[in-house]
Amino acid sequence: MTAENLLSRLERVKRTGAGRYQARCPAHDDKGPSLSIRELDDGRVLVHCFAGCDVHSVLSAAGLSFDDLFPPRELGPHAKREGRPFPAADILRAIAFEALVVAVAGSSMLAGEPFNAVDRDRLFLAVGRIRAALEAGGLNHG
Ligand SMILES: [Zn+2]
Repeated sequence: MTAENLLSRLERVKRTGAGRYQARCPAHDDKGPSLSIRELDDGRVLVHCFAGCDVHSVLSAAGLSFDDLFPPRELGPHAKREGRPFPAADILRAIAFEALVVAVAGSSMLAGEPFNAVDRDRLFLAVGRIRAALEAGGLNHG
């Protein structure tokens, strides 16, 4: 998915910097633009509602799914038939994405931005996914 694909479905879109946008969150009754959209160099899109909507709610309200944001290729139907179940590149990609989530959460915390239960859950999810990715790569025997 490109950022434009998402942005075209949102209201009051405002560009705030290179690859950064604000918009009205479609998942709650948003008075101000609470939704932050960030397009990464590799084309992936990060979405964050500062009112606390989770990404699933935001995307489904915009008529999209999480797969549109980050296709989980490592869970494809062909993966299990190979001797090595998951291609290393997919594992690294998954870890890189979750590491980015952690980094974004960390910089938000350092900037003193509100950090609610949904953000915290997403952070724990990221840690869990990194562990799972390490396990899938056979690197979690410690
Ligand atoms: Zn919201």
